[in-house]
Amino acid sequence: MHTRRVAVLYTGGTIGMMHGPRGYEPRAGFLAQRLQSMPTFHVPGLPALTLPASRLGVHVQYDLIEFETLRDSANMRREDWVAIAGEIASRYEDYDGFVVLHGTDTMAYTASALSFMLEGLGKTVVLTGSQIPLSRVRNDAVENLLGALMIAGHYTIPEVAVFFNGRLFRGNRCTKTDASGLDAFASGNLPPLAELGVRVDVRWDLVLPPNAESLTVRPITNEHVAAVRLFPGITADTLASLLSPPLAGMVLETYGAGNGPSDRPEFLEVLREAHQRGVVVVNVTQCHRGHVSLSYASGLALTEAGVVAGADMTAEAALTKLQWLLSQDLDIDEVRQRIGRSLRGELTEVEASPRLTWKVAEASAG
Ligand code: ASP
Repeated sequence: MHTRRVAVLYTGGTIGMMHGPRGYEPRAGFLAQRLQSMPTFHVPGLPALTLPASRLGVHVQYDLIEFETLRDSANMRREDWVAIAGEIASRYEDYDGFVVLHGTDTMAYTASALSFMLEGLGKTVVLTGSQIPLSRVRNDAVENLLGALMIAGHYTIPEVAVFFNGRLFRGNRCTKTDASGLDAFASGNLPPLAELGVRVDVRWDLVLPPNAESLTVRPITNEHVAAVRLFPGITADTLASLLSPPLAGMVLETYGAGNGPSDRPEFLEVLREAHQRGVVVVNVTQCHRGHVSLSYASGLALTEAGVVAGADMTAEAALTKLQWLLSQDLDIDEVRQRIGRSLRGELTEVEASPRLTWKVAEASAG
């Protein structure tokens, strides 16, 4: 019998919830018990827990490692991200791949945070969960968990990914975009890494190359960050109070291609002053798809005030990347430089075509 071993870290989320007096809540022990009794998830007689053989004749054998406190992911904190990274690292040599069961609400943040913290990752890490708990007759938990186990048990995709509704996304590229539907995640700026239809189609051209280094956890320790979504009329005072010490970094979610108010000197002065104090402000778009650029004067004004362009990063990726960079021993200029570079495939670096003879800023304005 050919087996591949997968560790399933169960952190909480709807997938393992039961209905109680205060609505859906996680229930300790329930998930392991339920999976063991389901023929899809366990073959009686084989070591618990083992999936039936796949088309390739592989039995995925998995251990369910339940966290002491099962969280609704709305309660996830920085310490939980570090704990998940630590659990992966401590079991790294014992398993071929990893699945993290997690609530959908903040899954994109955790996936992004893990992607930065797990340096030198050489094995597959898949986060999944569901919109309807496994305890319900009709649910999306079976498909999502089974798909995640199959991917982690069959393919070496050396990335932190999110599997949902038949698609595998790069974790730091996706966002929860639907609160009610089962197709809850989308990745506006990168196609899925894999799609599970009749066949499993892996886009190996998109998957990051295998890693020769060994795994090191570089934790996020800095909590002094904020994310602000611009809205028409946001005052300089509001921005100034958010940017006041001890804040070290802010993700500014701007309009369209990275634009913000350019005709209010007091607003831009608040940003300039924060920049001079060493606060790192990153510009990402509120749009679901596309890049921040210097096409408009209103975007250029932010750049001139010291705001760093975040390319096509999601707000989740930008925030966790900023937090992670601020947790490393780097000087502020180095942090600002690395924001615009792809560290884990989280952004698309736009380079001038070698055929262009004029500057990128002018070219993209056309
Ligand atoms: N509130 C839940 C959570 O994020 C929603 C879910 O899991 O889908 O934990």
